[in-house]
Amino acid sequence: MTHPNFRLQKVKRTLAKVNALASEMRGMSDEELKHQTALLKKELANGKTVDDILPRAFATIREADYRILGMFPYDVQVMGAIVLNQGNIAEMKTGEGKTLTATMPLYLNALTGKGAFLLTPNNYLAQRDKEQLQPVYEWLGLTVSLGFTNSDQKPSPQVKREWYNSDIVYTTASSLAFDYLFNNLATRLDDQYLRPFNYVIIDEVDAILLDEATSPFVVSSMPMVQSNLYRLTDNFIHTLQPEIDYKLNEDQTAVWLTLHGIRQAQRFFRITDLFASEYREVYRHIILALRAHFIMENGHDYLVSEGKVVLLDEANGRLKRGVKVSTGLHQALEAKEHVDITPNQQVAASITFPSLFGLFNKIAGMSGTAKSDEQEFFEVYKMRVIQIPTRKKILRKDYPEQIYLTTRQKLIHALNETLQLHREGRPVLLVAGSVENSEIISELLLDQGIPHNVLNAFNVAREADIIKDAGQKGAVTVATNMAGRGTDIKLGTGVKELGGLAVIGTEMLPTRVKMQLAGRAGRQGDPGSSKFYISLEDSYLAKNSTKRFKNYYRQLQKKKTDRQLRSPRLKMSITMLNDRVAANQQMARSNVNKNEAALKIQRKYLYDRRDELMRTAHLEKNVGKWLSRGISLYLDEKVEWTALELRHLMNQHFTYDVVNLPDNLELSHEKIQKYLEQFCQRVLEQKAKVLINSEQLNQFYRSALLNALDSSWTDQMAYLAKLSAIVQPWATAQRDPKFVYQEKAYQAFAKMFDTVAEKVVDNLMLSIIRLDKANNLIVYFN
Ligand code: ADP
Ligand code: MG
Repeated sequence: MTHPNFRLQKVKRTLAKVNALASEMRGMSDEELKHQTALLKKELANGKTVDDILPRAFATIREADYRILGMFPYDVQVMGAIVLNQGNIAEMKTGEGKTLTATMPLYLNALTGKGAFLLTPNNYLAQRDKEQLQPVYEWLGLTVSLGFTNSDQKPSPQVKREWYNSDIVYTTASSLAFDYLFNNLATRLDDQYLRPFNYVIIDEVDAILLDEATSPFVVSSMPMVQSNLYRLTDNFIHTLQPEIDYKLNEDQTAVWLTLHGIRQAQRFFRITDLFASEYREVYRHIILALRAHFIMENGHDYLVSEGKVVLLDEANGRLKRGVKVSTGLHQALEAKEHVDITPNQQVAASITFPSLFGLFNKIAGMSGTAKSDEQEFFEVYKMRVIQIPTRKKILRKDYPEQIYLTTRQKLIHALNETLQLHREGRPVLLVAGSVENSEIISELLLDQGIPHNVLNAFNVAREADIIKDAGQKGAVTVATNMAGRGTDIKLGTGVKELGGLAVIGTEMLPTRVKMQLAGRAGRQGDPGSSKFYISLEDSYLAKNSTKRFKNYYRQLQKKKTDRQLRSPRLKMSITMLNDRVAANQQMARSNVNKNEAALKIQRKYLYDRRDELMRTAHLEKNVGKWLSRGISLYLDEKVEWTALELRHLMNQHFTYDVVNLPDNLELSHEKIQKYLEQFCQRVLEQKAKVLINSEQLNQFYRSALLNALDSSWTDQMAYLAKLSAIVQPWATAQRDPKFVYQEKAYQAFAKMFDTVAEKVVDNLMLSIIRLDKANNLIVYFN
């Protein structure tokens, strides 16, 4: 029953319904066609579902696409659109027209009035697509917006509210993630701008959900105290010997100290037990420094540019400016590279893509390459991948990859092939595995006197501009992995006859990325070809191969041959390695998902409490509860209280004034509790006198409570980030890190609310309030 064809058959039946309405739509006047929007909305209001009105809605915008843009969505595009409306993933090859496809489900789902998002991998593509399609949506009476601005000025909450209240929003996953976090850091309803998430289509869904799923988006608040442990630990790392003091696992994704190394650390830091809880920070810094030195590779994982460490996006070799690893790895890298260490930022809020998308009622995705990961998409997001046939037969020829011993050899062979193709006049897209290699290739081309463009511009718009012309006769374009993804390469005149675009890869890559690159050629039934040149020195192999493979490669290397390596055993081992890498990455993502699961539950709980606070007009009761909890927690610190101790406690948390305890005060917990509660009540009444109305009093209460909640949550998140950094390495030591993590995360969260209660006491009692000239409330917390 779940035969893939079964799903496609169903899609085709719906397609037939859409097609049946085509001539009716064509016969309508512009006014009649535009009026469909109102009619469809009315049907929804009368109880019809989105699926009920799909055929008419799709037929309507299909006709509007034709009248406004001159493009009538093909049957295969309507099929893709149907899949997108189901909340599944449409696999549609590059150049099949996914941008236009998305207009149909976006229109349909926006008719509900609850909003629809389209997310692209970068700002450039979001803006391009929005600008192209805006005329259609507006013609049909819907509003559309871009969910970010290119100006340096920070948009106000009103402006953002306008964006997010539009029927259709084009934006990027990261803009949305950041706005979601900031929206939930707001302290007043007026500063919030998001409405509940309804429907989202993710373009290039594999790039967003798989490649970037593991790095959380982080909003930072004030700097924490700078730790000089980074430099010290960095010095320590230089005293270590490989294999004796530390070891790497086979695929070089984990590194740990040996017993010998642990002793070395205890000598170096002059401590007796590295694992004692008071040295937790030392241990954490060592873990970070080990990773910075032995797992993170300069030029591959990050670059040092202008005295700063910049992370590289593994998928496309592009700089990830501004994005920092939250756990201190960034600082460890800065110490390793001897550049200035940036202050440690405190995390105020964080979220990963999987949990962000978990907030939507319905999510859908589209990509040229998704089928290979369909199992994961289903497990994590409950989305199925449905392959949409191409409109025309794919004529592209994908040649088997050629394997050489050294980087030099593979580059020379790739270059010779390029020369040959160039002589024939065919355009060539030469793909380099790293920024560094793209420069080497560029130099080699210059030596041969071949004019070419290099795409490592770190500038998406410029990249798109260059890559558009990559299909012209005689063009040679050098690009890093996924540079220019999402931009279509159209063939120049006469190129079809010569054989179309040739993609020449020069680096071993994960299968999905390879397919993505090959797919840049041969779009929409064009001719084209792809061929990959790899070598045993490729970093992918070096990083991921097991010891057994390495020995085997070493044997091969002894042969010193210049020729292509054709051994079936080698090919088999590379295939196996590919599978293993894919499995490892999936595992890493699922670990992140599991850690994130704890965070997600806690975040949801916390944000719900925040929302409640913001919506409650009278917080006296809440304040009363928190106060008595906080007081009781403070009192629990001692079994018996003396008057002296009580005075001291009060001066720390309740008042800066001299305390005059009543003579007859009995010093039992119960009596002190009552006394302190009354004391607080009096202080609050005193404070209220400064204020002009009860609304301001409520405002004071709210900011005291929110401040307590937020600052405790900040600490909790810092704790969770550190926790996952400490817990993760033990995965290799045969313990189950997930269990340890969940357990500790939960305990810390429960404890967090005790801290909140205590902070509420301090905030209410020790804060200073006043009104400014315009009678606005100003609160200073201590
Ligand atoms: P994809 O995202 O699937 O790689 P794009 O959305 O970038 O493809 O579209 C590729 C090209 O095909 C664009 O130039 C687009 O204008 C064109 N195109 C898409 N659909 C149609 C159509 N139905 N009729 C004519 N041209 C189309
Ligand atoms: Mg696209």
